[in-house]
Amino acid sequence: MQRCPRAFVLRYGIAAHATNHPTVQLLKNSFAIQTPWILMQMSIRDTIRDYVEDYQMGMKWTTNLVRLKFNQAFQYRIEDRNSIITQLKEWKEPDSVFRRVKPEKHLEEIGAERCIKLIEDESFIHLLDTMAFKSIPATRSKRIDGVRVYNSSDFSAEKGEHSFLIRINLFGYSSIDQINQNAALFSLGTENKTIIQYSWKNGKWFIHKTNVSTNEKKSIRRLIHLDSLEMERILKLVGSKNNLERVPFADSSRTCMHCSIRFLCPAKNRLEEAKGEQMSLMC
Ligand code: SF4
Repeated sequence: MQRCPRAFVLRYGIAAHATNHPTVQLLKNSFAIQTPWILMQMSIRDTIRDYVEDYQMGMKWTTNLVRLKFNQAFQYRIEDRNSIITQLKEWKEPDSVFRRVKPEKHLEEIGAERCIKLIEDESFIHLLDTMAFKSIPATRSKRIDGVRVYNSSDFSAEKGEHSFLIRINLFGYSSIDQINQNAALFSLGTENKTIIQYSWKNGKWFIHKTNVSTNEKKSIRRLIHLDSLEMERILKLVGSKNNLERVPFADSSRTCMHCSIRFLCPAKNRLEEAKGEQMSLMC
């Protein structure tokens, strides 16, 4: 999404300020549809949140119960997805892009296995046994230098003077720099909290504990500032009648392959051609 200015504008500029226009509603619904793979990942987070809540109340789940709970969470998310697709029925093209599905067995197994590996991780058990956990809503935002930032950790954990923010990175991490940058983001607006990230990579959970320095916090605030300037610049390219002529397409056709709204985009099957047409219109 962030790799395509046009998708960004459609999602956060046009769909976010929706009127009752049917195309805008179609955009909103399309952005809400995730692939079963992503839904599987989201269901891991749902399951772990429920697990932690019950654990704190003294209820320890068996492995079978973890599987059952994961399957329920995944089923619920798939049903939700299917019901959005059903609402798109009147739109011929989307119906051929989005297909209703059932939870796939192999995704159920992958998801349940990742949940079980996390809750059986010794450091995770130690945290659960020694600290008071609180779930942090995924939609919680922070206002940083006038910019609303959505990047929340999953739990806070406290005991005496020890205080942690815990994040489950379902999509792994590409480098230690990325882990440090995430930690700096999560730490904004807090003081003296250690950031713990559990990241799934190469078949296991990796754990990183980070204490963010003042300089790292300053750098991430600067990055947020620059990002928000760039977002504003892109949003200003939209004309008063939601004209997208000047809004660039994605850099690479790989981005389009995973785009939820490609059926509405001139670049859907021919990115380079669409870019060429846009250039000629702007000359
Ligand atoms: S299809 Fe490609 S260019 Fe069009 S909005 Fe999606 S990612 Fe961007």
